[in-house]
Amino acid sequence: MHRARPLPQYLVQRYHGWKATIHAENKAWYRRLAEEGQRPRAMIISCCDSRVHVTSIFGADEGEFFIHRNIAGLVPPYAPDGDHHGTSAAVEYAVTVLKVANLLVVGHSSCGGVRGCHDMCAGLAPQLEEKSSFIGRWMDILRPSYQRMAQIADETARLEAMEKDAVLVSLENLLTFPFVRDAVEAEELTLHGIWNDIGAGNVECYDPAAGRFVPV
Ligand SMILES: [Zn+2]
Repeated sequence: MHRARPLPQYLVQRYHGWKATIHAENKAWYRRLAEEGQRPRAMIISCCDSRVHVTSIFGADEGEFFIHRNIAGLVPPYAPDGDHHGTSAAVEYAVTVLKVANLLVVGHSSCGGVRGCHDMCAGLAPQLEEKSSFIGRWMDILRPSYQRMAQIADETARLEAMEKDAVLVSLENLLTFPFVRDAVEAEELTLHGIWNDIGAGNVECYDPAAGRFVPV
């Protein structure tokens, strides 16, 4: 049993607009994409947040980015326990099958997921502590980050520090995947930490030499 319904009209109209213009003007290119398969150069892991628009920021067309989005754009630690691991599956496919050259973890300003983790750890969101909260259990990945940043007095600064730390936690967790570590050590894959300030339109990249995020 399912409850699928027809598309809302605004989406039907937008689709027909796309088909009649962008697709119609690039038919051969779309056909080639279909026939040759995808060969994306980069994988992007970002937040589900609708304001984070990596294809727009980096001017990417179809076929260029292999994108995985989840709450707060986190990568969990390697856990081959037979459970359902959507993020780990996407990383495995990108690295072992598509053999992407670059993997970007993209955090962003005013992230609701990071805010949720912050409030949960501060005792302000008991509902997220429930075992049944998928968001809470997912954001457990970021708990150590709250401990690290708890001494920052200003809340806005503390949240931004956690958003950036979330990117670093994910980059560390990526290296717990044997196939990621092997590809990085073979210099077939490079990892990048990005933080996007949505309002200012700024993109910062983690600079390991400076030990902080710096403007791109
Ligand atoms: Zn977010």
